[in-house]
Amino acid sequence: MLIDNHYRNINYLRLAVTDRCNLRCNYCMPSEGIAFAKKDELMSIEELSKIGELLVQMGIDKIRITGGEPFVRKDLMVLLRNLKNNEGLKELSITTNATLIGPYIDELKELGIKDVNVSMDAINKDTFERITRRDHYDIVYNNLIRLITEGFNVRINFIVLDNQNVQDIIPILELQKRYPVSVRFLEEMPFNGGSKKFNTIKWDYKAIFAHISKAYPSIQLIPSPKTSTSINYKITGHKGNVGIIPSFSRTFCGSCNRLRITALGDVITCLYGPPKINLRDTLRGDSSEYNIKRAIQQVIGNRAATGFEAQKEHKGVFDNSMTSIGG
Ligand code: SAM
Repeated sequence: MLIDNHYRNINYLRLAVTDRCNLRCNYCMPSEGIAFAKKDELMSIEELSKIGELLVQMGIDKIRITGGEPFVRKDLMVLLRNLKNNEGLKELSITTNATLIGPYIDELKELGIKDVNVSMDAINKDTFERITRRDHYDIVYNNLIRLITEGFNVRINFIVLDNQNVQDIIPILELQKRYPVSVRFLEEMPFNGGSKKFNTIKWDYKAIFAHISKAYPSIQLIPSPKTSTSINYKITGHKGNVGIIPSFSRTFCGSCNRLRITALGDVITCLYGPPKINLRDTLRGDSSEYNIKRAIQQVIGNRAATGFEAQKEHKGVFDNSMTSIGG
């Protein structure tokens, strides 16, 4: 087991496979993109597979593949297949914008990958395309419905953006009357590549809940797993849950079970903190597996207690874009 210095069990790895994305969501990066990494700076499939293997040996039993957009990497399925060979891995899941997943759906099923988070910040086509700065609404919507109807556990991630998509909060929940899909509303965070700075948000988790409960007074709090970042609810007659994630308010740090590794190999022990070690360089050097594991153990033994504490260690934290961190 991987236990940190605050007695939290770290069993969940968010592994980014690229920093590139085919969308340009305006809350994530500037329209021209960011300085994306060169190909040889990204970890190879062998390196990503090795990291997965070592971390599962150390106690990670849940890996979520993220990015950038994971499916822009043509060799993604090779990685998924390799990771699936790790016996101790109980859950392998993906976070995607669902633009490119279509041709891989059958293979994902064959591999037994069931949990797919789809990022979709509007149900209205114009709003969606204004936010993402690309005209991919139809393909995203069709892939979303295909994933749901083919039996995947799908959760929609919807970032609540003041003056942009608040009017879509209730309409996107209407989907749950027809389809078994959970929708999770997240607070916006200032990881946007420096395009917009802010210290407070209007649409925090309380405002989001107030907005939803006004439209659906029957909304009920339901129990959540101890390490859940979302506060979860059920609306009568809806086939999926509703989650609200205080990602900027950071109310859940006390039970944080996550470790992040970026596509460049940086190990991030808190979303709001600086990278602690670089595993790509360690793997490309002559370190033994024992030394790599020791280095990982050391950074886990030195985690900030909360995202607010981590932020103090990281002056340039909000110059980052989520496409580099992996969300
Ligand atoms: N491309 C994949 C996707 O769209 O889900 C995975 C990577 S994306 C960076 C992961 C998640 O981060 C998405 O749900 C996205 O909406 C979220 N995200 C990006 N920038 C954010 C920000 N500034 N605040 C809150 N969430 C953000």
